[in-house]
Amino acid sequence: MANVNENFLNLKNDYLFSKVTDKRNEYEKNNPDKKVISLGIGDVSLPLAPVVIEAMHKAVDEMSKKETFRGYGIVQGYDFLIERILDVEYKKRGVNLDKDEVFIAAGSKGDLAGIAELFSEDNVVALMDPVYPAYRDTNIMLGRNNLVYLKATEENNFTPSIPKEHVDIIYLCSPNNPTGTVLTRKQLEEWVQYAKENNAVIFYDSVYEIFIDDENIPHSIYEIEGAKEVAVEFRSYSKLAGFTGVRCSFAVVPKELKAYRKNGEKIELNSLWRRRQSTKFGAAAYITQRAAEAVYTDLGQKQIRENIKYYKENAKYIKEELEKVGFTVYGGVSSPYIWLKTPNGMKSWDFFDKLLNEAAVVGTPGVGFGECGEGYFRLTAFSSKEDTKEAVDRIIKLFK
Ligand code: PLP
Repeated sequence: MANVNENFLNLKNDYLFSKVTDKRNEYEKNNPDKKVISLGIGDVSLPLAPVVIEAMHKAVDEMSKKETFRGYGIVQGYDFLIERILDVEYKKRGVNLDKDEVFIAAGSKGDLAGIAELFSEDNVVALMDPVYPAYRDTNIMLGRNNLVYLKATEENNFTPSIPKEHVDIIYLCSPNNPTGTVLTRKQLEEWVQYAKENNAVIFYDSVYEIFIDDENIPHSIYEIEGAKEVAVEFRSYSKLAGFTGVRCSFAVVPKELKAYRKNGEKIELNSLWRRRQSTKFGAAAYITQRAAEAVYTDLGQKQIRENIKYYKENAKYIKEELEKVGFTVYGGVSSPYIWLKTPNGMKSWDFFDKLLNEAAVVGTPGVGFGECGEGYFRLTAFSSKEDTKEAVDRIIKLFK
């Protein structure tokens, strides 16, 4: 008898985005003349930068010639990309890393799921509420029941303080999906300190790093002294350079970072991750890595930043226009996410229904990210400028 992994049956139905899609489809079926605008999805809308396209074409041509053809890649990633990452993302910010501490992958989603496998089932895991749902589901799949939710509410400005109890693994996401908040240097210092005192590990998800506007906000957790001993950092080209369909990312697993055996012996996570990747991951594609490398040329930096500027202007527009008419709005600065407090204490799904049925605008109900998201609504800055304006105008008209 083939028994299923029962852990999978402990997952709650992933109904958030499917319910959003079902409701939208139903509305469109009943209202074929209405144009629905979505500020709901976390996917980019602008095409890839020209330098990226050019680099991909060149890499494809290399694949067509016997002399330059590439087969299986290197699991860790090609040096040409890792060296650019070390220089541009880290050295510039005073962080020195070795080449074998950076692992190229095909999107942070897989890395964030994979890293959890390196730790035993009985670890206590701290997650924020609301949270990017993949962190929670990955741990449930691994049979972990010890999930501690740290409430991110208006009272604590959506940045929960250090837990009173002991936890072993902490997921931090900054800039945050869904609340749009960013962690300050002081807050990161406190987390690093806590992790050191508790022999805990931080998974630092910074896939929205490129949106950080404020020079006082760290771009990497390794800007904090001692962080290399306690943190794995996840970065992605998905939002940085519009690679959601291309798939490229990297994880930093410093060699100083250790976890423990039951007998107290220290184990280097870098070697464990390398072992895991070489068994389970087939390396990111050569063409993709050449595309990512192009992002680090001067022209590449200029072009991707133009796209980010476009999304940031959308975020600013949504935030400012909604605030003008009395909405309470969080996020939207150093972040592509706007975390809107629903008016008059409306439930997240009621607000969703009202927006869809009366304004043909789609967003994401905050409660879908956790109980503390009830009464909130996530809007994203990733649509076109025109659609963003139109959607905001419609929302404003609805609540005038
Ligand atoms: N982490 C967060 C917080 C995200 O919002 C996303 C994607 O939306 C990811 C990770 C995954 O990114 P990637 O496209 O690199 O897999």
